[in-house]
Amino acid sequence: MRIQEHVKLSAIGAAAAWPWLKQDVLIPLVASIGIDVDHYLWFAVTHRTLSLRAAMRYFGQADPPQRPAAKFLHHPIVLGALLFVALRLRSRLLLLILAGLLFHVSLDFIHVTQMRTLKQSLSERAQGKCSACGKEEQALQLHTVRVSSNLLERYAPRHYVVLCPSCHEQAHSAATKTAI
Ligand SMILES: [Zn+2]
Ligand SMILES: [Zn+2]
Ligand SMILES: [Zn+2]
Repeated sequence: MRIQEHVKLSAIGAAAAWPWLKQDVLIPLVASIGIDVDHYLWFAVTHRTLSLRAAMRYFGQADPPQRPAAKFLHHPIVLGALLFVALRLRSRLLLLILAGLLFHVSLDFIHVTQMRTLKQSLSERAQGKCSACGKEEQALQLHTVRVSSNLLERYAPRHYVVLCPSCHEQAHSAATKTAI
């Protein structure tokens, strides 16, 4: 899920939690938006560059390699350890941070599940053929044509196509700014 969407949804969550948490709501809000910094940290260490642009380019590839280490802050072990420490210290601050992290990870989970379902149904509909070149392809990739700003429309099948790896690569290099 894109960072802008996380910002939007976290803000909605924070507004809903405001009556209970008041200004403390900022803590889970910042945690929920900031967690994706793990991608950047991983990229900076493994590629030895602090360039944000290079990191954006890397993660904006048609089919970026999935490295679990790139999302270490999302990992259940890290979240579990944080919960353990928070309970041990009875730290409200840590629990609020954890709430923000869990909110984010749940959204990521929904996103991944939706994308997987879309890929499957669109590949079936296309009978395993690339929507651009028509070539038959075992591993079609899901490409987002348009990211709808309306959340209810976010996963509407008409905003997606399934492409073979080389057409997908081309779609991303043709529109680096908008492609996902
Ligand atoms: Zn994430
Ligand atoms: Zn193709
Ligand atoms: Zn794509």
